Parts: sequence; C-alpha cells; structure tokens
Amino acid sequence: KSFADAGIQQFVLDNIGRSGYEVPTSIQKNAIPIVSAGRDLMACAQTGSGKTAAFLIPIINALLSDEQELSVGRPHVLIISPTRELVTQIYYEAKKFAAGSYLKCCQIYGGTVSSHQSANLGRGCHILVATPGRLLDFVDRSYIDFRGIRFAVLDEADRMLDMGFQESVEKIMNHPTMVPTGTRQTLMFSATFAEDVKTLAAKYLHEYLFLTI
Ligand code: AMP
Repeated sequence: KSFADAGIQQFVLDNIGRSGYEVPTSIQKNAIPIVSAGRDLMACAQTGSGKTAAFLIPIINALLSDEQELSVGRPHVLIISPTRELVTQIYYEAKKFAAGSYLKCCQIYGGTVSSHQSANLGRGCHILVATPGRLLDFVDRSYIDFRGIRFAVLDEADRMLDMGFQESVEKIMNHPTMVPTGTRQTLMFSATFAEDVKTLAAKYLHEYLFLTI
C-alpha cells in the first residue's frame, strides 16, 4: 500500500516524495484513510512511528482538495503538542507537506519572547502548531480565536496530561469560539490509553475510531 493508494493528490504526493518517504508506516497506512473519511480518531502510537505525517498528510490533502482557497485570517487547523521541540518538528513537517501551496503554517510556544510569534501570526495562518500555555496566552490577548477550526489535533496527549496541561487543554477545547465537537474533526495521539487519556477522548472526540499500533 502506497500513499497514492490512500487517495492523496499528486501535489501532496510530490511533497511526500521530496521528504524521502517512500512507503507509509503502519500508523500512516491505518490513520490516513480514517482521517480522509472525516472520522474522529484516537490513536495509540509512539514517537518514531511516523504519527506526525499520519495526521498532517490527510489534513493538508483535505485542505488542498477544496475548490476555493481558505481565508488566512484565522487558523483552520490547530495542533497542540506538549513541548517546544515537538511543536517545531511538527511545524517543519507541515511546511514540507504544504510547500508550494498557498497554505501558511505558524508555530507558537512558551519560554521565549512572543513578539515575533505574534508578528508571524499577523501575516496570516491556516495551520497553527502550539504548546497549550502560550496558545492560551495568545487567545486571552485576542490574537487568536477558534471560529475557523476544521481540524483539531491533540498530540502526545498523555504527556500533556503528565506535564500538567490538562486545564489549559480543556480551556482551549471548551473555548467559547471553538467549533463544537462533531462539527470540527478531532484527532488524538497518545503513547498510552490510560484512564485520564480515555476521559479526554470521551469529552472531545465524536464517535471516534480507535487505533493501536
Ligand atoms: P514521528 O513519529 O512523527 O515523530 O516520526 C518519526 C520519524 O520518522 C521522523 O523523523 C519522520 O521524518 C520519519 N518518517 C515518518 N514517516 C516516514 C515514512 N513514511 N518513511 C520514512 N520516514 C518517515
């Protein structure tokens, strides 16, 4: 099974090829059709499994399948991940798969001054990758709202909970501007499916499919 078999359009296939990915990993083979079918997904997969591309490829493929260009004023995709390093990895991978298209990617994370991050956001953003704390900070300052969200991804959910981000994640997902569960598409990735991860999935996913690799 190849990426083309999963119904990915040629433009994205070319970007995947340029990344040096020839064969989809197991999580990619299984997750891409589920995401492309519009379903919510809870996937248990470790770092190193190729989980980042497993959600980025079908999301970017879906956005680029729209006849009209999406407005750039607010994010259409929100990806939340626990650390700056993970956010940056996801951001660069998103840029690779979206390269040559009109889609703009932004990253925001804590631990540094936020001025250049807000300046980047001000230039427009379709795909936003963020750590929970700094994201909330930007939301509270009205730099960002979630009215345009079509896809929400909770990456490394177990680590976010272990690091004390539960309240922040829930504030984001329950934000008054957030598109409701079931209207947006929500994907969750976690190394484990512990009780607290299960509870989070039950709250924010809609009739989700469960995948374990
Ligand atoms: P991840 O689990 O998303 O952190 O990915 C782990 C590593 O595998 C990253 O360095 C990716 O660039 C790489 N990778 C992901 N998918 C593939 C693939 N289909 N073929 C080769 N390398 C891949």
